[in-house]
Amino acid sequence: MNYKLHRKGNQNQTEKLTFDIEMEKDPPHVLIFPIPALGHVNSMLKLAELLSVDGIKVTFLNSEYNHDRLVRHTDVCSRYTQRLPGFQFKTITDGLPMDHPRTGDRSADVLHSVKSVTPPLLKEMLLNEIKPPVKCIISDGIMSSAIDVARDLGIPIIYFRTIGACALWAYYSLGEVIDAGELPIKGTEDMDRQIKNVPGMETYLRCRDLPSFCRADDPMDKTLQLFMSETRSTPRADGLILNTFEDLEGPILSQIRSICPNIYTIGPLNAHLKARVPENTSLKPSNSFWEVDRSCISWLNEQPLQSVIYVSFGSITMLSREQLLEFWHGLMNSNKRFLWVIRPDSILGKDGENQIPEELVEATKERGYMVGWVPQEEVLAHEAVAMFLTHNGWNSTLESTVAGVPMLCWPYFADQQVNSRFVGEVWKIGIDMKDVCDRKVVEKMVNELMMERKDEFKKSSSEMADSARKSVNEGGSSYCNLDRLINDISLMSSRAHSC
Ligand code: UDP
Repeated sequence: MNYKLHRKGNQNQTEKLTFDIEMEKDPPHVLIFPIPALGHVNSMLKLAELLSVDGIKVTFLNSEYNHDRLVRHTDVCSRYTQRLPGFQFKTITDGLPMDHPRTGDRSADVLHSVKSVTPPLLKEMLLNEIKPPVKCIISDGIMSSAIDVARDLGIPIIYFRTIGACALWAYYSLGEVIDAGELPIKGTEDMDRQIKNVPGMETYLRCRDLPSFCRADDPMDKTLQLFMSETRSTPRADGLILNTFEDLEGPILSQIRSICPNIYTIGPLNAHLKARVPENTSLKPSNSFWEVDRSCISWLNEQPLQSVIYVSFGSITMLSREQLLEFWHGLMNSNKRFLWVIRPDSILGKDGENQIPEELVEATKERGYMVGWVPQEEVLAHEAVAMFLTHNGWNSTLESTVAGVPMLCWPYFADQQVNSRFVGEVWKIGIDMKDVCDRKVVEKMVNELMMERKDEFKKSSSEMADSARKSVNEGGSSYCNLDRLINDISLMSSRAHSC
């Protein structure tokens, strides 16, 4: 039992001492259960590590498919199971055949499948397989069936929604948006029409900034309805964890608190982990479903300061061949250096069309470097990197924010359309290029970020990075909220039934 007495701040000493003694006797056992997508697994693993180093026993429930990939490409076993006492992995099926691609164009299959197969399996595992009994569940905040299972078994449940508060609030408000007739979007209409029924976003949210599934013709669309109903269940959980920080999303968090008062904002989790567990900086990243190619770091070491565009669209975005070419020409025409992550499964098409054209690989060598997968946090922190061309997955958005790297945003789907609007219009730490994939626009916007408005973006990004770091240092909002979460888990656990 290695519970450390390093928590200070907003707690009364007597209460803290009682809590510490209880922890010494009987550490709470928490089940952490993400939906099977890398972005979700990634941030929930970081939370798992933070709880575990504080003495909480953690069982992390991964899909069989994803766990197999993590074991193959990272050191998850030595990093978690061997290093952290009381940490164990368990696996569960996601209900899909092993040869299902699980890429972005098929991600709705994953959600629908998990929703239909998980509940009885989860209940059975909690009753008979996971020992000692679980006293608190932290489930992905898009899995309301976990709340039903937890209620059945008398176990407290906290939601962890892995998207930003801005997207969560937009999802939550979609019922009102539909009732007010602002959705569906009519085929030929102006996508710049303002949306008035997401409270707090009336002045800047446009049709095109709504989550991608709002582009369905029919408001009864299965995926739109799934996201809406799952998000509406958020207040049923005993609390809500968000990977964000108060200085970034304070006004939107106030809106969410009106329906869900018990919120733990504990992000950015990547920075929080480094602040609380300094040894973390020297460990290999554990959020890879592909082999990390470290040659990109040697290549970056050879480049001048602040000269490189880092390009990555995350773990599931797909690009058509036409889009690939538009980005490539835009980057080449900008005359800047670039490091581009192209995953083996990221180009759409069959029979060789889904490969990077050979002539493009050759021509890139002039001032670019293409790789299959990189250690992204290390890349973003590298002094050669000047900007990030990103799809604005929430993890990537936060990682870039922490590193103080301005973003050129090309959102692909789901929450990313909302995130990129906030990056461009609210936080002003990048430019939103959504819905356009044109070489001239890419070139123009790269020049805007790296030349014409360079100082302006550098300043706003560094200021936001400072705020992010302050929030996770001792006394900061995320630091204090994590302490409160750990305390509450212990109190909830002591009240939980035993299965
Ligand atoms: N990532 C990485 N190496 C890469 C590309 C991505 O480590 O070459 C990581 C990145 O740091 C982030 C995650 O993959 O933590 C992607 O999550 P995000 O939420 O940004 O997007 P998603 O993959 O869910 O679309």
